[in-house]
Amino acid sequence: MSGIQHFSFCRRQWALIHIEQQWEENLRTIEGDIFHEIAHDGLFAEKRGDLIISRGMKVFSYSLGFTGSCDIVELYKTPDGVEIFGRDGKYKPIPIEYKRGKPKENDADALQLCAQAMCLEEMMLCEIPEAFLFYGETRHRHKIILDNDLRQKVKAMSKEMHELYDRRYTPKVKPSKACKACSLTEICMPRLCKNISVKKYIEKNLMGVEE
Ligand code: SF4
Repeated sequence: MSGIQHFSFCRRQWALIHIEQQWEENLRTIEGDIFHEIAHDGLFAEKRGDLIISRGMKVFSYSLGFTGSCDIVELYKTPDGVEIFGRDGKYKPIPIEYKRGKPKENDADALQLCAQAMCLEEMMLCEIPEAFLFYGETRHRHKIILDNDLRQKVKAMSKEMHELYDRRYTPKVKPSKACKACSLTEICMPRLCKNISVKKYIEKNLMGVEE
């Protein structure tokens, strides 16, 4: 599910990571991992009065074909919520995704959050109209309205991701502004590798395998 943020950033970056299993650690990705470890640190579920805080909850959606986990799900006790196994009363879930940096101009983070909420809705048979992104740089929660446009985008992207994955197809390089901020520039080789996949490039140029 977290692949949706890579996918919205660059189809090729998503394919390099999720189809070709290429990955390169850099300062940003390592900092991001540490930040998520902190979000997942502590008890699996903690109760504070009428609030349950669940960390690292595993989620899935059959209709989207997604699995993943939520950094935090806050469950508020309310009469119009849903029942949770092993707990008294009814609860309303709200996912919160932690991000290391600051709010982005694109909607990659909102799409990931919306996908998490759609998984929770399917699992818990409830409606989640809004959720939150927490950014490490601003130390603030930003409310994200999970409207129909965002949901349709998640559905369309999930369909496209599955189609590409089934074909094991890595989209060709399309150099853009995004390349400057991409953690896979060295692997992607946007200037060298315009017409073949990285796998084929390595096989041909480094391993001497001819097609
Ligand atoms: S370097 Fe550019 S084209 Fe290549 S994966 Fe990154 S963003 Fe996409």
